[in-house]
Amino acid sequence: MSTLLQKAETSEILQPVEADLLRESGGAAIEWYGRAATALYRAYCVARKSVGATAEEAEVILPSISCATPANTALLAGVTPRFADVDPNTGMPTLQSIQERWTPQTCAVVFIHLFGQTADLRPLAEWCRSKNILLIEDLAQALGGRLPNDAAAGSVGDMSVYSFNPTKILECGGGALLIRSPKLVAVSAEFAELDPLPPEIDESRSRALGLSYRNLHHSLVGLLRARAVDEVEVSRAFLKLQPAFRALYLHRMKDPAALVGAWAQLQQVLEHRFRNAQRYDEALAEGPWHRIGQWKQSGVCWRYSLLVNFPERLVDFSEAVRRDGFHVSNLYWPVNDFFRPSDPCPNATQFARRIVNLWVDQTVGEQWVGQCAESLFKNASRFSA
Ligand SMILES: *Cc1c(COP(=O)(O)O)cnc(C)c1O
Repeated sequence: MSTLLQKAETSEILQPVEADLLRESGGAAIEWYGRAATALYRAYCVARKSVGATAEEAEVILPSISCATPANTALLAGVTPRFADVDPNTGMPTLQSIQERWTPQTCAVVFIHLFGQTADLRPLAEWCRSKNILLIEDLAQALGGRLPNDAAAGSVGDMSVYSFNPTKILECGGGALLIRSPKLVAVSAEFAELDPLPPEIDESRSRALGLSYRNLHHSLVGLLRARAVDEVEVSRAFLKLQPAFRALYLHRMKDPAALVGAWAQLQQVLEHRFRNAQRYDEALAEGPWHRIGQWKQSGVCWRYSLLVNFPERLVDFSEAVRRDGFHVSNLYWPVNDFFRPSDPCPNATQFARRIVNLWVDQTVGEQWVGQCAESLFKNASRFSA
């Protein structure tokens, strides 16, 4: 009773955000959670059920360039993650690379709008319909993005997943699952009843577990990057430890009022990010790298991204830029190496050895971007020779 009441209250407080999202994306309902991870978990449960698959046999096709959360939550929902290779220029899968991973057990495809980029999803949506599988859009990095036909990102999938947690576009906390059809809303409501979220765990325990997970992931990426261990061995160790992290993924929305407040700032936040991305794009026009530019079409830049032409020195380069005082990250290792090395993704492997992500959020501005660009040039000339 008390959780039902709480859910109704959450939904009531979030009414203005809900109305905006439903109007933009045309869904039937939104479920509010504490994380995008929880929304993904629920989406997988719905996908499995809607194609009548049993837990043992359902599979979901994920992109090989992503954080590990979409795959971790698939395992949690009893769905086997399969991995599609990516377009070497965008890091996002293609219709063809997704089709190559289809099996009769496939129940869904997750399309991640990586770094804020979008794509024309209509051919993929049509193919998913023809195969009777669900399309899930993950907008964690692309809140507010526009598709090439100017529709909202999140308006094509059968379900769309949002994150409002730290490091994403809005950082106030929370996650959401937008569901397009009333039929799927009903399926999800059944799960809410049959499979309620577990009790919340203590925050300091949650932080400790989260840090441990991060350290584990960083450490294993380091081993793979240095080619110190075979990915089959890494995968075996990683998968064996995953049950320890289960408590990280399923959470309720804690502070709906914070999201209502942050929502009013969304356009401002997007403009600030876009201006920073433009500054990088101008400053970094000539250099030993390829600039990823699809944020220009979507209107959303999560992290400004470069693919450097000197993959063997990427770590030295990033470290040197960090020592100059700038945030850079390069931790998007192909997820198939952790969860299923037998799904080879050669383009993703190349991509991961070249990617550098630069910050464009509220913590950085014009001067910062200019100085960061100088550091990038200085250090690239050291390491690209
Ligand atoms: C961050 C992220 C998630 C997880 O978001 P949470 O709200 O932290 O659970 C899921 N998918 C992608 C692509 C992400 O970048």
